[in-house]
Amino acid sequence: MKKGALLYRGKAKSVYLTDNPEEVSVEFRDDITAFDGVKSDVLADKGVYNAAVSAFFFEYLEIHGVKTHYIHMLDRRTMLVRKLQMIPLEVIVRNIAAGSIVRNYPFTEGQVLRPTVMVIDYKDDSRHDPMVNDDIIFALGLVTREELLTMRKMALKVNDLLRTYLAGLNISLVDFKLEFGRWKGDILVGDEISMDSMRLWDAQSRDSLDKDVYRFDKGDVRATYAAVAERITPGALHRFEAEKAVFSREGSE
Ligand code: 5GP
Repeated sequence: MKKGALLYRGKAKSVYLTDNPEEVSVEFRDDITAFDGVKSDVLADKGVYNAAVSAFFFEYLEIHGVKTHYIHMLDRRTMLVRKLQMIPLEVIVRNIAAGSIVRNYPFTEGQVLRPTVMVIDYKDDSRHDPMVNDDIIFALGLVTREELLTMRKMALKVNDLLRTYLAGLNISLVDFKLEFGRWKGDILVGDEISMDSMRLWDAQSRDSLDKDVYRFDKGDVRATYAAVAERITPGALHRFEAEKAVFSREGSE
């Protein structure tokens, strides 16, 4: 697989063309940013941890019937994915009140949300990702009614699957953000599902296990990401190294 031209460089990931026009590779870099890029750092191997968790969740979702852009990993920080036509919306699902919903509405941090709250933001850093409603989405011509319904149903299914899986690890899924794209008439989950796009709390201690550790200087970010990746994807980081060693041995025989 030849790494092609850089197609897009985001705040923490870079997307490259491949020799197949229907596929791109996504490199999870070690950059970490917060508050629309106002705070930024480089953390060794942070990209590896996010890539491992994202790959694990994409595989988990596929096994459970949720279509995603994921194909397979190319190396520890690079994912081969289907080249979607991305929809500039961020679908956010919240099980527990934290972050902007506490700042903007009279919820108490940690309050269990009934019903589960889903909001949609327009993805545009220069406008600080403003929240949109259905009328704004349709007036902007971003998706059809059917596509929006599909995205909402998929987001709820992802929430059920991830929340249940994480609960088994004693992790509360507080909230998360999904992005979607079009692929051959279908809607697929794209982007990433990682510590950068989810809010995770230890179920007992309520300690943050995600980017809030970085945003609010709550502790050792790298150690947190490493421990969470190992907790969510037991053995996957080591297994990948071992498989790579076997592949390279076979390749040289
Ligand atoms: P909040 O609205 O509280 O800032 O974010 C809610 C959830 O969605 C959090 O898990 C947060 O990480 C995620 N989220 C919201 N906006 C973005 C975004 O622009 N990029 C990423 N990676 N995650 C986001």
